[in-house]
Amino acid sequence: MSQRTEIRSHITHLECSLSGEACGHELPHRLNPKNGKPYLARYDLAAAAETMTKESMAGREPNMWRYREVMPVIDPANIVTLGEGFTPLREANRLGKHLGMSSLLIKDEGVNPTGSFKARGLSAAVSKALELKQMKLTMPSAGNAAGAMSAYAAAAGMEAHVYMPKDAPIANQIECVAYGAELNLVDGFITDAGRISGEAAEEHGLFDVSTLKEPYRAEGKKTMGYEIVEQLGFEVPDVVIYPTGGGTGIVGIWKALDEMEQLGWIGSERPRMICVQAEGCSPLVNAYNKGEEFAEPFPNPSTLAAGMRVPAAVGDFLVIRAVRESGGTALTVTDDQMVDSVRDMSTFEGIFPAPEGGATLSALQKLLDSGEIAKDERVVLLNTGSAVKYLDVLGPALGL
Ligand SMILES: *Cc1c(COP(=O)(O)O)cnc(C)c1O
Repeated sequence: MSQRTEIRSHITHLECSLSGEACGHELPHRLNPKNGKPYLARYDLAAAAETMTKESMAGREPNMWRYREVMPVIDPANIVTLGEGFTPLREANRLGKHLGMSSLLIKDEGVNPTGSFKARGLSAAVSKALELKQMKLTMPSAGNAAGAMSAYAAAAGMEAHVYMPKDAPIANQIECVAYGAELNLVDGFITDAGRISGEAAEEHGLFDVSTLKEPYRAEGKKTMGYEIVEQLGFEVPDVVIYPTGGGTGIVGIWKALDEMEQLGWIGSERPRMICVQAEGCSPLVNAYNKGEEFAEPFPNPSTLAAGMRVPAAVGDFLVIRAVRESGGTALTVTDDQMVDSVRDMSTFEGIFPAPEGGATLSALQKLLDSGEIAKDERVVLLNTGSAVKYLDVLGPALGL
């Protein structure tokens, strides 16, 4: 048998992220019904390590499904891909020099299908939904997740239902319609959209792919962690700065690091994980600062970075845990600071980032000023999306 045919998923079960309780992955599970907390996918990593060697990675396909052994889809025929992932980890030399730094890197997720890293999560979730024969999907979303779900559902021939606050970015509304999704505009907040989406799921038998409420979007997003390490020649950076909404990405990257240690790719070293949120919506930062494990819902959330306009996150304790265990920190930045950073990242690097991506640069500047990040540390900024999804808000902010 050639090595290629031996490459397969080594998923074994799901595990409750709070209680550790196990359950099978063969059914469409959502939150643990006993405590309302997310499940995480677990794998036989010793078996995965046999084919998933550092050496074997060089010849693999340049998308996130190169990590097949630690992805949840059993039958490759169920993989719904638009070429997401394996995005560039760019050396930001001009910006780094401007900041007096010796090693600044930008993981550019804006080049993903649908213009954001939501493509990773939804490629994984839609693929696994197909495997579990869930052909009607629903989601409340304030932005990029809905566009990504609609695109992958279209590619899979599934039905997609989207519930969006009516002030959601116009680009996201348009793309959902273009991909053939049913777009429902809700007069209220994302929490109201979530309630209505949940009711529709009950009533019409739809499968709700809200972030962390099903276990597989985190599996898609964890591949960012694998890629950062692989692209650094199997080394771990000193710091990762992440613009946090629901926190799926930070939870995923943290999980990937543990998996990579068990695969023998890295040792026990970890980057400091930095959680950045908008001043107008910072439930996780508030909980972190108060020394709490869970976050209070943030009242009247407001920021132009729609991806970070998440007032309550079901995975709150997982984000806060990752930040603490890594020796990282959590902080806020203002919308004005984000816009300044969008301009800086664009003019110094030719990367036109989403405001969320800009937020990581604003956070870096604050942490360099306070001395919490040293200028000779190797820092990775996650630019999670492309600015072209935000032209309606960025134009006026940039004076046009
Ligand atoms: C959704 C989103 C985020 C937040 O991601 P989480 O993993 O849910 O915290 C950040 N940036 C952009 C562009 C997004 O669309």
